[in-house]
Amino acid sequence: MDRRDFIKVAGGTVLAGTSCTYAFRFLTSSSMSDAGVDSTLAKRKWGMVINLDKCKEDCTACLEACREENNVYHDEDDRWDINWIRKVKIEGKIGSATTEKTMILLCNHCDNPPCAQVCPVQATYKREDGIVIVDHHRCIGCRYCMIACPYNARFFNFKDEEHWINPDRPKRTHGVAESCHLCAHRLDAGKMPACVEACEKIGCGALSVGDFNDPESNVSKLIADNSVKRIREDLGTEPKVYYIGL
Ligand code: SF4
Ligand code: SF4
Repeated sequence: MDRRDFIKVAGGTVLAGTSCTYAFRFLTSSSMSDAGVDSTLAKRKWGMVINLDKCKEDCTACLEACREENNVYHDEDDRWDINWIRKVKIEGKIGSATTEKTMILLCNHCDNPPCAQVCPVQATYKREDGIVIVDHHRCIGCRYCMIACPYNARFFNFKDEEHWINPDRPKRTHGVAESCHLCAHRLDAGKMPACVEACEKIGCGALSVGDFNDPESNVSKLIADNSVKRIREDLGTEPKVYYIGL
């Protein structure tokens, strides 16, 4: 794995260390949702289950697939590098023994997304199907959402870029905030997100995406049949990424 993508974080600070002490006044989903979307979307609630026990430590297939699909460049300089999905190493202690775990992080598509609440121009919003998205034409680049996100899942695109390897997707916009949009364009077309597809292709199957509103869906069954955790549930953001093996 590229060492830049593999940030060593002591004591799980990436999970718990964000000093987010805001008492979020959450908007209702209807007040934040995209009123113009197809009404069938409202029946779904997209989310993800990540089985960390299936994820190979040095594998970067999902990270690379995301970059290729969405034209997200990798910059050698960490100040400009953008990772919609990333792997980090967390350390913990069980008694006197130190344990290590590889963790996959991305936007949690929170059901109560503080990023959307603080956006002064409603560029960030939650679709009826639960995907949290940024309208780059509307974003004014204030970066409030980056501060509000307790998961450090938002990035700012500082540079005009030449990285345009997928002509089916637009060039990304300079001067706006961005984050994983769960490959909404692919889900809308009946395909899996690029990261999920790449993980399946190499035979790991660590990433699953599906409809939380359907009790028979793959993700609902995974959640029912396994011990799962979400990150910082105490914040009330209602993250829609669940972890097995955390
Ligand atoms: S993880 Fe951050 S960017 Fe994603 S929906 Fe939640 S608050 Fe917003
Ligand atoms: S950076 Fe863009 S998306 Fe984020 S809060 Fe400001 S206007 Fe909204």
